[in-house]
Amino acid sequence: MFVRRLDRARRRMEADGVDVMLLSVGADLPYFCGYEAMPLERLTMLVVPRDSDATLVVPALEAPRVVERPDVFAVRPWGETDDPIALVSSLAGAADVIAIGDHTWSGFLVDLMGAIPAASFRRASTITSPIRSVKDAAEIKQLGAAAGAVDRIATRLRAGEIELAGRTEAEVSAELSRQIINEGHARVNFAIVAAGENAASPHHQPGERTIRPGESVLCDFGGTMIGDDGVGYCSDITRCVSIGEPPPEFADLHSVLVVAQRASVDAATIGTSCEEVDRVGRSIITEAGYGDFFVHRTGHGIGVEAHEAPYIVEGNRTPLVDGHAFSIEPGIYIPGRWGARLEDIVVATADGPDPLNTVDHALVVVEP
Ligand code: ZN
Ligand code: ZN
Ligand code: ZN
Repeated sequence: MFVRRLDRARRRMEADGVDVMLLSVGADLPYFCGYEAMPLERLTMLVVPRDSDATLVVPALEAPRVVERPDVFAVRPWGETDDPIALVSSLAGAADVIAIGDHTWSGFLVDLMGAIPAASFRRASTITSPIRSVKDAAEIKQLGAAAGAVDRIATRLRAGEIELAGRTEAEVSAELSRQIINEGHARVNFAIVAAGENAASPHHQPGERTIRPGESVLCDFGGTMIGDDGVGYCSDITRCVSIGEPPPEFADLHSVLVVAQRASVDAATIGTSCEEVDRVGRSIITEAGYGDFFVHRTGHGIGVEAHEAPYIVEGNRTPLVDGHAFSIEPGIYIPGRWGARLEDIVVATADGPDPLNTVDHALVVVEP
């Protein structure tokens, strides 16, 4: 699998005139070689020359963590007094064009630019992003397993099995986080819990505010689930619940969101542009009078990273292809009052859009 992925990267390097690709911290590295770099001051870097074998440059003390894959890369540990920049430079050879991972620390990039002054550097995402954004069957299966796990949590939330009223947002967030781990994720990426007026801030930080009866609560949570090959895939879901009967105005706002979210999902067919998928749901929200309160894009791709290409946003003319996986998550946020968002992960397939999250969308009323 990693061999096939690197082959695809090399073909793109060829087409783009890139001589060497350098990958460090971030999701590119595990995607292409199954190893995740520790985000430390010591350099870890996969050196991928277009025409010769890849080498994983790794701090000697971390080398024991590397699962050796001789068909994918050679391992080159460096000791505490070695110069890893010189090592990478020598492996890069006389490269004219170097693509370097977008998440690489700028300190390393600056040092490499000094060590290889003749080379021009560009973002490796120009190579990696188009490859990573199109999922194969095994990846979709992993995304499906992660989605199934958060679906079970959302189902309990809607059934009133996760206590809300009387607890703080932070307490509920901690419980969601525990459940994300219990359901098989290796790590929690976020567990947003926003009560009442706090839900008007899309990325609200759950705090000490106590959740009260009569309020609606927005929960947006997800994590990373590691598959057999050691590579993790992400989940991401948002649902809202009302503690007791919601005010009619909020119920109206939420029902608009249900229709808009569904319409964008249905629009996500192969060949449709990302911006068109955004427009379809947005126009429904705008017609209902909430256009100014839908303050973000409709969605983001998802895979080894929680947010990656393709972005479902005005201006992105990329047509959806079989295997694109992304969120559809319109929201309406009324400052000082309340907010709501509905989010599913969807895969574009030859048979039409396939939502991986299948939990009911309707605003559910839980008992205080
Ligand atoms: Zn978000
Ligand atoms: Zn989310
Ligand atoms: Zn999302």
